[in-house]
Amino acid sequence: MSTSHTVSETVPAAKKVESATVAAAVPAARGGITPRHLVLAAVALLLASWGFLPEFSVTLLNYIGLYALVALGLVMLTGVGGMTSFGQAAFVGLGAYATAWACTSPDAAALFGALPPALLPWAGLALGLVITFAVAWFLGSITLKLSGHYLPLCTIAWGLSLYFLFGNLEFLGGHTGMAGLPPLVVGGVSLASPRVLGLLIWAVVLLALWALHNLLDSREGRAIRSLKGGRVMAESMGVDTGRQRIKLFVLAALLAAVSGWLYAHLQRFVNPTPFNLNIGIEYLFMAVVGGAGHLWGAVLGAALITLLKEQLQDLLPRLLGSSGNFEVVVFGLLMLFVLQRFADGLWPQLAAVARRWLRPTPVKLPAAAPLPQRALPPRSQVVLEAKDVTKRFGGLVANNAVNLRVKAGEILALIGPNGAGKSTFFNMISGVDDPSSGEVRLMGQAMAGKPSRAFAALGLSRSFQHVRLLGQRTVLENVAVGAHLRAQRGWIASMLRLDRAEEAAVLAEARRQIERCGLGAHVDTPAASLALGQQRIVEIARALASQPAVLLLDEPAAGLRHLEKQALAKLLDQLRAEGLGILVVEHDMEFVMNLADRITVLEFGTVIAEGTPAEVQGNQRVLDAYLGGGDDMGVAA
Ligand code: ADP
Ligand code: MG
Repeated sequence: MSTSHTVSETVPAAKKVESATVAAAVPAARGGITPRHLVLAAVALLLASWGFLPEFSVTLLNYIGLYALVALGLVMLTGVGGMTSFGQAAFVGLGAYATAWACTSPDAAALFGALPPALLPWAGLALGLVITFAVAWFLGSITLKLSGHYLPLCTIAWGLSLYFLFGNLEFLGGHTGMAGLPPLVVGGVSLASPRVLGLLIWAVVLLALWALHNLLDSREGRAIRSLKGGRVMAESMGVDTGRQRIKLFVLAALLAAVSGWLYAHLQRFVNPTPFNLNIGIEYLFMAVVGGAGHLWGAVLGAALITLLKEQLQDLLPRLLGSSGNFEVVVFGLLMLFVLQRFADGLWPQLAAVARRWLRPTPVKLPAAAPLPQRALPPRSQVVLEAKDVTKRFGGLVANNAVNLRVKAGEILALIGPNGAGKSTFFNMISGVDDPSSGEVRLMGQAMAGKPSRAFAALGLSRSFQHVRLLGQRTVLENVAVGAHLRAQRGWIASMLRLDRAEEAAVLAEARRQIERCGLGAHVDTPAASLALGQQRIVEIARALASQPAVLLLDEPAAGLRHLEKQALAKLLDQLRAEGLGILVVEHDMEFVMNLADRITVLEFGTVIAEGTPAEVQGNQRVLDAYLGGGDDMGVAA
């Protein structure tokens, strides 16, 4: 069980969130320029000047576009998803070599010989994507399970292996590589000239930016954002985070492969050099310097590093009077400086300035139909049952044969001194952790070995004692994660904006739950800038967004003021009346005694009493435990 605070990635309260959802709250100031206008203007300008730019600028821009594609994948993988890869250059190589082989190898002629020559590069693209998909899926499924530094180390390992493989395979031309690639032909038009091919390169970059922007601004995007620091929470909301990680890894690899394909047909020959580990590290620099969590940061980083390298290669030998790879040294130092000064990269700096002049791009969502509702089990049916649940941490018995039943339409409280094992028990009955022995049944089903997302799917939802929110995202987005399983549009649909009706429904539901929990004024506030007590309420709203049948709340009233506690008690009372089964861990005895139907008392992992509030309050063992534990038991008496 990791108790890390995902909120520790806090943002200052004043810092606005770049999310589009902010726009919904800001009444559109008529006539203002939005970021979208700016992009369209930049594209128009580039298009208009493309024919007149000097050859050299076109070449540079082409390379920037190719690098930006790879960096975009890394922004998604590393910046957003939290997985570092040094090995992307190898995937660029797969894309490049696949098309080189398809277009020039005599062996390929046997396979693709029937195709007209103009279609060969497209066969090469398809081949490259298929191979990259397979390799990335395979590598991802073995390496992404590793945590900490092992993943980056593995990416170095396979980055090196693939590079040496390219150089050592005779049918790929060994170290000399393969020459004589044909130009791309689209609709009878040859893209042999870099100036023409550049249009395709930048069209692909813009398309990727659009699709990834859409992806991030969706149900799947919220799941992706939770991969970095919020996996336990996301799993509890029904997200298959392991699968999301692999998909993200494959996506980044495919973008790299497309870049490699374009590169191969720009250069018209390939050799292993551009796919070595150094370049892999450079790609990562681009993503990180540009702004690891921001899509446009990829373009900025690719542009900055390409231009800088260009300048340094000219300037340094003149300054130093001798040639040598000095640019690498200066480059490294500059990188250190930038990262030291701007840990989030340069894009957020630019964006902060731009925000003063621009109004946010307005979001348009269709009218929302309600989300599907779960049929709640009949009142007083047992919805959750723990049988002899025991949990050992080494020699420590945190839960000792705990038995407990939660029925639909009741509030059961679990109390006990600090360290009694309440949070541990919560993790056992929500699938976050497995009991050492004993059984957990949810909705009558045995849950042994099932992940927490299976618990979520059956209608269990929970809050965490140590809040697990995506601190930089808005309250709305955080709560919408709770509705993950009530919607189903996937990655492709999200990228293509086919998810808008469903997305509207999810956001409307999230908004409804936020208002119900009394946080209506904070819908668009970054979660981390709320008071801790309010963050707990956001956790409850997120749990409710899943429309649970069983609700587990770990110290929901901690940090709340008196009136807020009363509001919370009223809400829980309402939920009970609607038929939810609620289990709540709480230290505030007045709150518990007034609210709970039954109480179970835990001490040193063992149940020492259970019964109605009155029975428990009169129990001598309980009084002893509390006097020993220093908690105040007499408040409600
Ligand atoms: P409570 O929520 O009742 O305050 P916890 O369930 O957090 O208590 O902790 C119960 C006991 O189990 C404590 O002694 C705690 O130190 C221990 N414990 C909890 N989680 C772990 C863990 N992952 N590894 C080792 N010990 C743990
Ligand atoms: Mg606890």
